[in-house]
Formats: sequence, C-alpha cells, structure tokens
Amino acid sequence: SGATPVAMSKSTRRGANEKERTKELDSKVIMEFGGPIGVSAIMICSPLLMYYFFVCLEKYGGALQYPGISVAGESFQQFIVRMFQDVKQLAYPTEYGFKIYTYFMIFQAVIAIIFPGPIIQGLPIPSQNFRKLDYNCNGISCWYFTCAVAFILHRFGYFDLVDVIDNLGPIMTWSIFWGNLITLITYVMAFVCGATHRMSGSFLYDVFMGAWLNPRIGPLDLKMWAEIRIPWVLLFFVSLSAALKQLRETNSITAPMAFMVLAHFLYVNACHKGEECIPTTWDIFYEKWGYMLIFWNLSGVPFLYCHASHYISKTNPMPETYWVILMYVLLLVGYYIWDTANSQKNRFRMKRNNTFLDRKTFPQLPWGTLEDPSYITTEQGGLLLTGGWWGIARKIHYTADLMMAFSWGGITGSPYAVVTGNGSFIPYFYLLFFICVLTHRVSRDMERCAEKYGKDWDRYCKEVPYIFVPGIF
Ligand code: NDP
Repeated sequence: SGATPVAMSKSTRRGANEKERTKELDSKVIMEFGGPIGVSAIMICSPLLMYYFFVCLEKYGGALQYPGISVAGESFQQFIVRMFQDVKQLAYPTEYGFKIYTYFMIFQAVIAIIFPGPIIQGLPIPSQNFRKLDYNCNGISCWYFTCAVAFILHRFGYFDLVDVIDNLGPIMTWSIFWGNLITLITYVMAFVCGATHRMSGSFLYDVFMGAWLNPRIGPLDLKMWAEIRIPWVLLFFVSLSAALKQLRETNSITAPMAFMVLAHFLYVNACHKGEECIPTTWDIFYEKWGYMLIFWNLSGVPFLYCHASHYISKTNPMPETYWVILMYVLLLVGYYIWDTANSQKNRFRMKRNNTFLDRKTFPQLPWGTLEDPSYITTEQGGLLLTGGWWGIARKIHYTADLMMAFSWGGITGSPYAVVTGNGSFIPYFYLLFFICVLTHRVSRDMERCAEKYGKDWDRYCKEVPYIFVPGIF
C-alpha cells in the first residue's frame, strides 16, 4: 500500500516479463531421447523387452535366453521363433486377461470420479494464461476402497487374486494394447479438441511426448488417474497375488516374498497418502500425456517393476539370513528418507503458498514436516529449500529411491550370487533402468532449474554442493 506508482509499475513490468519468460520456457521444444529415431526405438523395444523378460522368468527360471542357451545348436532365427512361440503360449491376449485388466482400469476411473477428496490447485499453466486446475485428490480413499473390494472378491470367491500372477502374460499383453491405443486416441483427440501444445512437428516424436497437456473426461484428470491409480496399485496386486499363491502352495510365505509385498505396499501407499503433492510435480505440470507417460504408467511400471516378485514366485530363492536382514534395513531406511524428503519439500512449498493440508494419512513419519527451515529466496520468486534433507544433498530423495530399488533386486540374491550364476539378473533390471531414468531426470531438471533461477541456482548449488550422496557425489 505504501509503494509509489513508479515502484509499482516496475514490479508489474518485472512480473509481466517473468510471465513471458516462463511461457517461453514452457513452450520451448527440446528434442530428447535421441529425437524421432530414439523415441521410435523406445516404442518398438519397450514391449519386446517386457516380453523377453517375462518369458525368461515365466519359463526359464529367470535365466537370460539367447541362441543355444536352452536348445543346443540353435540358430538366431530359431531362437527368435522359440521366443515368439513362448510369448504366444504364455502371454496370449485371452478374454480373461482382457477382463482383469480392463475392468480394473474402468473400476479405478469410476472410483476416481465418484469418491470425494481434498481439492488441490495445480501450478499456474503458462500456456493457458496461467490458469490453475483443480485436482480431486481422493487417492487414499480409492486405494483403501480398492483393497477392501479386492479382499471381498477374493474372500467370497468372486475373484481369486492368485489369478493375477497366473495370468500375468495375458494381462501384460492387454496393458500393452491399451497403452498404445490410448496413446493414439489421445493424440488424435488433442487435434480434434484443438488442445495441442508444444508440438515439435515430428509425428513420432509428438506421439511419444504427447500432444495434450491436461486431458480430462469430465471431472477425471487422465494424467493423474494414470500416474498412480493403475501402475502402482496393479504392481502391488501382482506381488500380493504371488504371495497368496505361495501361501496356497506351501502353507507359508518366505521372507523374500513378504519383503516384496511390503516394498510394493509402502510405495503404492506413499503415492496415495501424499497424492496432494502430485499436481505440482514435473509430470503433471509440464509433461504432456503421450506414449512416455501413458505406456509407462499403464504397462511399463507394473510389468517391468514386478520382476522380483515374479522371480520369487517362480524360483523361491532364499538368500542368507544376514543378507535378507540387510535388504529389509535398506528398504526401510530408504523408504524413510524418500518419504520424509519428498514430504519436507512439498509441505514447505505448500505452507509458503498457503495451500498446506495437514493430512493424517498413514504413516506420518517424524521429520516429515520442517519447522522454520532455511531456504533461498530467488529473484524469480520461487523458494529453494536448503534445510532438512535438502541441505544434505540436492537429490537425496532419488538416492533413497535407488536404495529401495537395489533392495527390490537384492532380496532375490546378492549381485555376487548373480555373477556366480546362483541368481538372476532380471530382478536387478529395475535398478539399472531406474538409474538411467533418474540420471536423465537429474540432468534435465538441473538444466531447467539453472535456466529458471539463473544465479540463484548457482548460489543454491554452492550452498548444497552434493547431488546424491553428501561428501561423495
Ligand atoms: P523432484 O521432486 O526432484 O522435483 C524437482 C523440482 O523440485 C525442480 O524442478 C524444482 O521445481 C523443485 N526443486 C528442486 N530443488 C528444490 C529445493 N531445494 N527446494 C524446493 N524446490 C526444489 O522430482 P520428481 O518429480 O522427478 O520426483 C519426485 C519423486 O518421485 C522422487 O522421489 C522420485 O524418486 C520419484 N520418482 C519415481 C519414479 C518411479 O518410476 N519409481 C519415476 C520418477 C520419479 P520448481 O520449478 O518448482 O522450483
């Protein structure tokens, strides 16, 4: 109120300039993943790789297959035919597989629409005049409701949960089908509805990255729905199904199998309990809904991340006790850091924006909310947290996520066991894949933040010099 007209017009101008710059950054096309050729390779190879690992686990006890390994004197061509026949036999798109996947998907969409939940505003969308969308974050009630329905269906004989692991191949095939079909429909509909954004002009690249930023069907935000309601819930049910099968067959559940149920429960539960933090993430506010998100959410995550559970279900490995204990500790410590680091940053931002929601969703861990932390105020207007975990390393939550990823593979046997032929590499694939995903994300994010915050970002990097592990890297 005490500002002079000159000062006011200066700050209005600075605000307008800032908005223009944000708009420019948001609409800038950056060719990633090797451009059209790279993304085409990803789109072709992803399902092939999924089928390959699936067959190795389902039929060959996790042994990587190559010409001659299981059939003496086999040529490359014969190997391809063998793999194709295995896929046809084990992952045929059956009607039952269709029903399981499709009904599950529709069920998740219906409850996402009808259940009430806290309404959270997303970030201002630069390409839509900085409008903010409302998100109904009813994830936690939908998640508990899904568990209750699954229990009732299983307990009273309407649907045997063991059928999930027994029909993993067909279900995966239908997920691939839906992932591709929904990608194409969304791409076409973006043009029909005039909702295209940040288009590169290359058909293949735009199909991969998407054409539509925030597709919605009525109140259903498709990106939010696909982000956690399908992948993580399905992943959990794959592991639960494998555990129930083991219980039925052996009357007990081994420590590695229980580990996978716990690991996937913690992950899916965390995604839902903190769902109000998702609307402000990169995937929701920046990425478009294309193959990359659609396929990975509907198909890639559940069927590439479930390898350890699938492997345990097929081979029942039993690593040494000390190693199992170590993996449990790694999982729980990793989870604690991951949960609290994400929550510290998100709650800090929400508090400063007056959008903080004091939720009591289970579990609320100590140090999940920081009282009066240190931070940097940037010229751009954003705040960079330098307290809590965020003063220790810039991407400590990625390190924690990788600790969990290691434990998911590790519970099936140590890397030494894999190298000496007493274990399978496949459960470790998630870790390797995830390292690639996260390092790519880090470099992309650092570039973006350096551009967005300029010298304030340099100041932040100086204050918090380490990225992943304090004192080392
Ligand atoms: P981040 O949570 O790291 O978010 C990055 C953004 O946070 C930056 O662009 C910046 O945005 C803001 N930011 C960065 N540093 C600070 C700081 N010090 N203080 C305040 N804000 C800051 O990235 P993701 O969205 O990639 O990851 C979220 C979680 O999801 C992670 O734990 C990750 O491990 C997990 N994840 C899991 C995947 C899986 O498949 N399992 C895949 C990808 C992620 P701004 O412009 O707002 O400043």
